[in-house]
Amino acid sequence: MAKNIPKGTALLNPEGFERFNYGPEHPLKWERVSYAMELIEAYGLDSLEDSLFVSHEPAEIGDLLSYHDEEYINALMEANDGVMRDSYSKYNMGPGDNPVFPGVFDFSMTVTGCTLTAARLIGEKRANAVFNIAGGMHHAMRDRASGFCFINDIALAIQYFLEKKMKVMYVDIDAHHGDGVQAAFYDTNKVLTLSFHESGRSLFPGTGFTDEVGEGSGRGYSINVPLRYGTDDSTFIWAFDEIFIPTVEKFRPDVLVSLLGCDMMLTDPLANLNLTSQGYLHAVSRMREYANKWLALGGGGYNQFNTSRLWTLAWAVMNDLDLPDELPEDFREKAKSQGFQLPGLRDDPYRLGEWRKQEIMAEAQKSVRNVKRDIFSILKIKTKKGFFDDLF
Ligand SMILES: [Zn+2]
Repeated sequence: MAKNIPKGTALLNPEGFERFNYGPEHPLKWERVSYAMELIEAYGLDSLEDSLFVSHEPAEIGDLLSYHDEEYINALMEANDGVMRDSYSKYNMGPGDNPVFPGVFDFSMTVTGCTLTAARLIGEKRANAVFNIAGGMHHAMRDRASGFCFINDIALAIQYFLEKKMKVMYVDIDAHHGDGVQAAFYDTNKVLTLSFHESGRSLFPGTGFTDEVGEGSGRGYSINVPLRYGTDDSTFIWAFDEIFIPTVEKFRPDVLVSLLGCDMMLTDPLANLNLTSQGYLHAVSRMREYANKWLALGGGGYNQFNTSRLWTLAWAVMNDLDLPDELPEDFREKAKSQGFQLPGLRDDPYRLGEWRKQEIMAEAQKSVRNVKRDIFSILKIKTKKGFFDDLF
């Protein structure tokens, strides 16, 4: 049962995103936030008692400087006109993942404004759990764009919490390694980063191995649980509980910041994992159970009917609500017209063949074993009697 989120959730209104477009060939589509809001509204979750539905305050340039490099910010501002210049290759901006589209700076400021408004609601004690579905640019680096991300709104929100003297745990269930957030806090023990993701051997950004454990006073405060391509619900759920629960119980963060990316799903076109809503909901429910204060961000997800359903489910979990599985007629019809057959709000179970299951579980066991050996020993986390006892 939830411990300390009594009342007081807030949802950021993701308004204004429809005017931004990464380009027709790009997999990241901003219609996804409008689709998600349609479903959230259809279930009546935008007007809950004891919950705020909030418009964002604009972000300011000064907000970006708590993490980002000024020269890079200046280049991003210049790129707002959508004109590609040779000098941008140094910032990893240009054709491909991080396109220079008209309004690229305004877009980044809108995401950042939403996430910082969400963080301030928590810091100012106006809400205990806040969700910004349009946030979560976890790949952006201090001085360059990466993986569709220009400004790292997550790192900026965490910096804000640190200024408030709050201890932060970041947990990332996006299919891709949360490399930008890890890099931002690699050398501090004030922020613990924990990322579950498809192994960097088969997926961008090619990092997030178990030996990336942090450095200096941050040694032991960077945790990675890479999973083999094809990983399913049961393996993910096992690995999540093995690492998340003892870590959050030991670290006891003042605030949990989480990235609820939806690209671990079986039907996601970019990543190669086989989760359904069951695995996703398990992780989100665990976060709900252990968070004192909770900032949740949307993250990746390239099937927009998945992002709609999963973020709606996550927002329901944040509010302790159980939703009926039958989707509103309009939404189902819209999905059908775009070639998606939706089973309902939740997915049908998916079972892997036994031989694949064994190799997938073996890799998850290896990741979990490495984390317990290399990190739990530093953090002085005791493991319960069981499978891994022989390692200690
Ligand atoms: Zn992702």
